[in-house]
Amino acid sequence: MFYKRNLSVLKLYERVAQGESACLTRKRSQVQILPCSPHKLKNMKEVNIQLPDGEEKSFPKGTTVGEIIESIGVENSTVGAKVNGELADFYYEVDSDSDVEPIKINSEEGLYFIRHTAAHIMAEAVQSLFPEAKVTIGPVIENGFYYDFEYFRGFTPEDLEKIEKKMKEIVGQKKPLSRKKVSREDAINIFKKDGETYKVEIVNDLPSDEQITIYEQDGWYDLCRGPHAPSTGFVKAFKLLSSAGAYWRGNENNAMLQRIYGTAFWDRKELKNYLNKLEEAKKRDHRKLGKELDLFSIQDEIGAGLVLWHPKGSRIRRVIEDFWREQHELYGYELLYTPHIAKIDLWKTSGHLEFYSENMYPRIEVDNTEYQIKPMNCPFHIMIYKTKIRSYRDLPIRWAEIGTVYRYERSGVLHGLLRVRGFSQDDAHIFCRPDQIEEEVLGVLDLTILFLKTFGFDDYEIYLSTRPEKFVGNEEVWDRATNALRNALDTKGLDYEVDEGGGAFYGPKIDLKIKDVLGRAWQCSTVQVDFNLPERFDMSFIGEDNSRHQPIMIHRAIFGSMERFFGVLIEHYGGAFPLWLSPVQMRIATIADDQKEYGEKVYRVLKERNMRVEKDFRNEKLGFKVREAQLEKIPYLLVIGNNEVETSTVAPRKLGGKNLSSMTIEDFLNHIEKELDPQKWQEVE
Ligand SMILES: [Zn+2]
Ligand SMILES: [Zn+2]
Repeated sequence: MFYKRNLSVLKLYERVAQGESACLTRKRSQVQILPCSPHKLKNMKEVNIQLPDGEEKSFPKGTTVGEIIESIGVENSTVGAKVNGELADFYYEVDSDSDVEPIKINSEEGLYFIRHTAAHIMAEAVQSLFPEAKVTIGPVIENGFYYDFEYFRGFTPEDLEKIEKKMKEIVGQKKPLSRKKVSREDAINIFKKDGETYKVEIVNDLPSDEQITIYEQDGWYDLCRGPHAPSTGFVKAFKLLSSAGAYWRGNENNAMLQRIYGTAFWDRKELKNYLNKLEEAKKRDHRKLGKELDLFSIQDEIGAGLVLWHPKGSRIRRVIEDFWREQHELYGYELLYTPHIAKIDLWKTSGHLEFYSENMYPRIEVDNTEYQIKPMNCPFHIMIYKTKIRSYRDLPIRWAEIGTVYRYERSGVLHGLLRVRGFSQDDAHIFCRPDQIEEEVLGVLDLTILFLKTFGFDDYEIYLSTRPEKFVGNEEVWDRATNALRNALDTKGLDYEVDEGGGAFYGPKIDLKIKDVLGRAWQCSTVQVDFNLPERFDMSFIGEDNSRHQPIMIHRAIFGSMERFFGVLIEHYGGAFPLWLSPVQMRIATIADDQKEYGEKVYRVLKERNMRVEKDFRNEKLGFKVREAQLEKIPYLLVIGNNEVETSTVAPRKLGGKNLSSMTIEDFLNHIEKELDPQKWQEVE
């Protein structure tokens, strides 16, 4: 007997219980109800289902999530459920008393269903267009999904278009994705028969007690744990983004597979927002802008993760460093310089050799002595501290250094300026008495926020990490330091999350992530209390009681590293830096050769006033000169025509703004005074 789709499940059970046998076909429906035999129903026990509104209902054991959801009459936008907190799809059979909470399509969890289903749809499309392609795995990732195929060549942009078109067809067919439990043996046989060798390998590697499931969408199927949307029709808004080679299981000794990345959202609007953001991020990519604006390069001939700062990038760095030094001196820091290598014994004492060796470059031998390139600056600062007997009256000592360090990072994780192997930390160490921690941390937070605001970052994510299970030092000191960090954050009125037990073994810390103009968070600043290094280096100060005490060491960085912060800055401003940071602040453009002599005079005056100024006296049309200056994102173009020569003025054009009327150089310098000031430029509209 055949029942219509809209017949409620419970009614169905009633009829079956009355002796009718049921057989359901659910072609192209959104909700498929699995066929049940009357025999199964007779032996069925009841399970109690706790529903979100506090309601409790009983259902026959083995009732599917879809049946439960249909029976409570929730909206069409339901894409799956959480059963006892675990994601489960409509085909999941509930065998014991459970909490069932429907999941809507327009939620974070809903996205998981949509994206995972999209991966299956993509795999079906690929195999129907490229029958030799073998399937491997296709997980959901942050912001989307991918699927890896074995295929003899990479997929081209044209291929992706075809695949997308095919996917749209499959979505239009609203194929239900049914879940079938199979034995290990059956699974192996099925995929062996299909020649899907990777799937056979995956099944063979599954733990012996794992329930193996296959998801089928009207003829095409995949080995998968699920969960999935009830039908392909739920994947309404998706886009394939790119393709790339990827090794099977990420191991370069394995076969090279072809990966296709895609994303999916619950509706077109959300998808469009995301694609726009992606487009914007691409335009702002610091690697692209770094090349276009001639700021920096990373070259194979020199080495991966090693940065060359070009003249224009170096100008920006110098402005940042000048501001950095000036403010550190104001905040009571002394500035240090230390070497790039040191004898191996120093790194034994510091513990780096024992605990940090996988991040360090190999040793260098000189005059039968082993040296180590520094991965950190800390031991050097400690050795300076130890050159004298320090009294409690000398503390706190605040020492800062823009120290270049080298750390080994796997080549796969290197990324432009954001993840490199050689970088300059804006490092500082504070040595203080335990009773000074809070005040010192407050000072660090003040300076950190001043810096970040100056560079245009007002939005932060802050984390306080507390004592882990394994730690050095005693609990009382830990509690005192942790409270000091907490109090400092509270005093500043900063919102933060506590990462309980997330601290390093040697002390609690505060991490601060800055959010850029696209809302992306970047880890930069950190304040780390350290009970370990003072102990290892046997540091001391003479207390008021005339006896030896151990100082507290605080490590802190604001930018993290100059390289990383520069990368974030480039993306935040999309290469259009504010005037005070801009590598070229203004360019003088003449209209004709007659104005050259006056142009040279203007150039000299601006140079004398420390402006970063360039000249464009070429025999080109003004429009051409304007466009070039715009492409180079130069804040001001100072145009000189006959009128300007006669009146001893310049006609400034602001990047992305209006043309100003002609004014004297002095008036122009007054006009941009605030824009040139790191601490006032943001007051200018
Ligand atoms: Zn799946
Ligand atoms: Zn340090």
